[in-house]
Amino acid sequence: MNEVSIRRPQARDLGSVVRFSFLKTALIPILTVQLVLLCLYFFSAGYITEKNMSLLHDNALQTVSEITKTEAQIFDDQLREISRNNLSLQAEHEAMFRRPAPDYSYDEKLFMEKVGYDLNQNLNPAGFSSLYLSSKTKMNPRMRRKITKTTEMDNRFRTLVDNNPNIVTAYFNSWDNMARIYPAMENFYDQFPYDFDLTRFNFYYLADQINNPKRSSIWTRVYLDPAGKGWMLSNLVPIYQNNFLEGVTGLDVTLGTFSKHILSSNLQWNSGAIVMDGQGNILTMSRAAESYLGLTDVSDYNYKDNPVDRTLTKPTRFNLLKQNTLTGMYFSEFFNGNEKSLEFTLNGEEFLVTKQEISETGWQLFILAPLKNVYGPILLEKEKLTQLGLIFLALAALFYLAYFVYLSRASKMLAKRITKPISQVTKMIMARNADDKTFGAHDPVNITELDNLLSMNLKIQNSKLLYQKISGEMKVKNDQLKRLAITDQLTQLYNRLKLDEVLGYESARSQRDKTPLTVAIIDIDKFKLVNDTFGHQVGDKVLIGVADVMLKNSRSTDILGRWGGEEFMLILPNTSLKHALLQTNKLRELIEKSNFSPVKQVTISMGVACCEGFVCQQQLIELADNALYEAKENGRNRVEFAPTSQGLVEKADESTEVAY
Ligand code: GH3
Ligand code: MG
Ligand code: MG
Repeated sequence: MNEVSIRRPQARDLGSVVRFSFLKTALIPILTVQLVLLCLYFFSAGYITEKNMSLLHDNALQTVSEITKTEAQIFDDQLREISRNNLSLQAEHEAMFRRPAPDYSYDEKLFMEKVGYDLNQNLNPAGFSSLYLSSKTKMNPRMRRKITKTTEMDNRFRTLVDNNPNIVTAYFNSWDNMARIYPAMENFYDQFPYDFDLTRFNFYYLADQINNPKRSSIWTRVYLDPAGKGWMLSNLVPIYQNNFLEGVTGLDVTLGTFSKHILSSNLQWNSGAIVMDGQGNILTMSRAAESYLGLTDVSDYNYKDNPVDRTLTKPTRFNLLKQNTLTGMYFSEFFNGNEKSLEFTLNGEEFLVTKQEISETGWQLFILAPLKNVYGPILLEKEKLTQLGLIFLALAALFYLAYFVYLSRASKMLAKRITKPISQVTKMIMARNADDKTFGAHDPVNITELDNLLSMNLKIQNSKLLYQKISGEMKVKNDQLKRLAITDQLTQLYNRLKLDEVLGYESARSQRDKTPLTVAIIDIDKFKLVNDTFGHQVGDKVLIGVADVMLKNSRSTDILGRWGGEEFMLILPNTSLKHALLQTNKLRELIEKSNFSPVKQVTISMGVACCEGFVCQQQLIELADNALYEAKENGRNRVEFAPTSQGLVEKADESTEVAY
């Protein structure tokens, strides 16, 4: 039997509805909670990172600003100290010039004893300044007095240079080309011509009346020391005597020594330091700054191959402001702006940059703190948090996958548990008979409603079975009753009721089809005598025997029945009178010849009537009955026919001779 499924286009089967609902109910809340938790995690991690970064940033800004201020202050203090020292030299020189000097000019021997070593550098003892004179200098008494007098500064110069690591050289240059320098310069005449004119050098004229009317301490620009001490600058003060510029004292400072502190100190976050002059030239920078800018300082200048003169300043690539690059743009903006700090990108890396002016010289100190280092710990933490979050996400995904598989299987089982009994019930209901395999008891599924449904269905099926059984039995009974109703109990032939019925529809058919219908009424001759002679029971047997012989010798299409008492009727549908007479005579002869012991001989008389659709049933019986009467009248054991119509009579005439 086929499984019954009734589907509408939008209808879904119960199993998928159950599974889908089950999965939906189980997954949606837990996935929502999970999603919210994940969002919360990433949001809070992001928030904390952001907060921490902001704190670190503020902290870094404060720290870097403080470092910048402190370092700038150190620079400034060092420069001021040098400047102050030079100003005190100024005062001391002026006082010196005011004092009367010991005059050795008149005594050449004494003079040479006193300052001879000055005039011949080879004799210059260690710890004393050396004196250099231009070939233009006139050695007259005034000059001799000046030379003698200025020896007073020897101690002062030595003390300054020896006790201040920033000061490499102290000197006095007179208007008339006398230079007193400490410590001695062995290669002086390699740098200066013999007829040198001191007033034409920047370390002189920068301090003169025109360039320095205030007679204050001034700083030269940074230049490359021709004597090979590297990048340096000089502090200059003029020495006046009664408004006459006697000369200039100078203190030379090497940048390397000077900025050693900041260059060598390991600044927090590996920050870099840059010092620029007022025009934006980089004066010095730390190794870290060099790498951030991609610039190497020219401190290690090769003097041997490239002798320099005293005015060589740093190449333009050391002026970031003049560079047409992004770095140049950022620095220009920052250099000229009012902000003390700015963030910008140098060579793809982000920096927090601070600046502070070194007021003594108008220089600017920049500190570059790489933000990646500032945020380092947090970025590391952030990365860890993100990794942790991703691991959590992956684990959650794995868990939910397993959970989904589990749920899917569970839902499948649940759906099966629900749908199986229902489809069984459906099958059972659709089962047409008790032999169907689906018909029968089922294991309980432990769902009350479904178990009830199953047992109810079983009851219904049992009732159905009972009904089938009863109706089957009833049909048998009914068939029996039907048969009984049309059967003669003694002879088991059709009874009168059935004969009437057959006569009814056969005559109707004969009328409709215009076919002949013949009826014979058969009566046992002198039967009363049989009864009287042999008894009623023998009479019954004779009746049964006659019926038997006639039934066995009739065609299957002919209907034989007991008409009543010892009379029978034979209905011959679609049979002409002629053939009917042949058949009836055959039967008559057979009976005559049969042995119905203990009765010696039994004969029958027959009345035959034939019609062809124009007589009614009743008339036909009457005609046959009349013919029978005639047969009795004519001596019994014979067949007589009824002349029902002219045609029939004619036909009958032809075959009359056949009888007997
Ligand atoms: P006829 O040749 O003129 O037909 O003479 P008959 O004796 O056969 O006619 P009648 O009508 O006088 O007698 C019929 C008898 O048949 C009367 C009745 O007792 C008998 N009979 C009718 N039905 C049965 C039956 O079922 N069993 C027995 N044993 N006899 C029956
Ligand atoms: Mg009779
Ligand atoms: Mg009779």
